[in-house]
Amino acid sequence: MDDNTITLTIGKQKNIALIAHDGKKQEMIEWCQENAEILKMHFLNGTGTTARMITDRTGLPVRGYNSGPLGGDQQIGAKIVEGKIDFVVFFSDPLCAQPHDPDVKALLRIAQVYDIPIANNRASADFMLHSSFMDKEYDRTVINFQKNIKERSETL
Ligand code: PGA
Repeated sequence: MDDNTITLTIGKQKNIALIAHDGKKQEMIEWCQENAEILKMHFLNGTGTTARMITDRTGLPVRGYNSGPLGGDQQIGAKIVEGKIDFVVFFSDPLCAQPHDPDVKALLRIAQVYDIPIANNRASADFMLHSSFMDKEYDRTVINFQKNIKERSETL
């Protein structure tokens, strides 16, 4: 592989972010209950209200960031950039306008840039969580940011 990209490894134990818009929170809790045996093998994070509700209703430990409309999605995006979140389940609501729509879009974009698996509905989340990669390491491919900065700083 050329040096325009680098490989980062998603460990056997994933750092999972769980996010659900209000109209999808019930579905997220049901999905977490159904999949609690798998989810408890990993490190769970989430936007504030989603994290609290999952912990209260399923007993799973979920580290909570700010509420989504108050910057929680941006915090999750920043953790992806830092390499501290490497798997996202985001039940967004396609039938309800969100005040923080730009933040939602930004999170989807940064997950793409960093080659992070991201599920935006229950079926995708089921396929991802039941993939054989859940028990193994997985190498993801990202832009070689050091080379990128060096070239940009020399040519712009
Ligand atoms: P919440 O945020 O978990 O705090 O409700 C989720 C979101 O709307 O992004």
